Amino acid sequence: MAKILVVGGAGYIGSHVVLELLDKGHIVTIYDNLSTGQEINLPQKAAFIKGDILDFESLTKAMEGADAVIHLAAKKAVGESMEKPDYYASNNIAGSVNILNAMLKTNVKHIVFSSSAAVYGMPRYLPIDEKHEKNPINFYGYTKSLIEDLMAWYADLKGINYIALRYFNAVGYDSAKRIKGKEKNPQNLLPIIMDAATSRRDGFLIFGSDYTTKDGTCERDYIHVSDLATAHEKAILKLMSDAQSYRLNLGTGKAVSVQEMVNAAEYVIGKKLDYKYAPRRAGDPAVLVANSELARQVLDWAPKYTDIKEIIETTWNMEK
Ligand code: UDP
Repeated sequence: MAKILVVGGAGYIGSHVVLELLDKGHIVTIYDNLSTGQEINLPQKAAFIKGDILDFESLTKAMEGADAVIHLAAKKAVGESMEKPDYYASNNIAGSVNILNAMLKTNVKHIVFSSSAAVYGMPRYLPIDEKHEKNPINFYGYTKSLIEDLMAWYADLKGINYIALRYFNAVGYDSAKRIKGKEKNPQNLLPIIMDAATSRRDGFLIFGSDYTTKDGTCERDYIHVSDLATAHEKAILKLMSDAQSYRLNLGTGKAVSVQEMVNAAEYVIGKKLDYKYAPRRAGDPAVLVANSELARQVLDWAPKYTDIKEIIETTWNMEK
């Protein structure tokens, strides 16, 4: 049992992490500015402090007495990061510096950090393992990569231990429907499919049908958010037991094409969807798939959700 400060705990991934921590008997305080996180996602069993990571005083006060921090507070829209690098530098980079400095001030030694497959950029080989060079091709990915490296310096110089979890494509919702706040305005494939299925938008586009993949559309590694959540809890236990630092991929190792996602969604929803084929989207690699062997070894972690239909069902249940 640990006392954990979950920064960004009211957001999409954070709210699932909080559920998992509470299920495992930890004492949780959520720190969130509710800019994208939602009040409805705050469980009664967790304490809540409304605050911004850019507010160093408030952050430091919140951290007092914690055993570990889980840091999920970030801006994450790739397109927006290319238009507003200043905004992403402030929130993601300066915000993370504040978190690390608050840890020094309060003598908190362990941090689990939300990183991303975006640190790799265009894959040189597949599946991608952690030895793959980091070469982000968008500013969002750069912020994640830089914070990982910053944590490594703090680890060397100040004895902080970190586990950076590099998420591949996060999808799905808690299967017990305990999360009430659907993510607001997400720009990812499955939420867009859901918007089209429920007439919140008129159809959608499949970006690229001429890739050299199984059916011409891009392939991705879709990992259920509850599987991400279990990895965070295991990462906390790992940090507190052997105080080493790691960077770990979190994916299923299975490549699912956009067309397969669409077909599976049609099956789950029980109706045909309105979509068209469009040109490739700039910056999209044809295939992104994780080798998560290291996470399996280090954390004794394995994803429970491997069937894409089952994953989509947990999302569709939110809509119904
Ligand atoms: N995609 C698509 N239509 C959309 C949104 C996404 O065809 O309206 C494709 C996108 O090109 C990529 C995959 O779906 O191949 C997953 O995209 P998403 O933005 O969800 O995540 P990313 O892999 O870019 O992080």
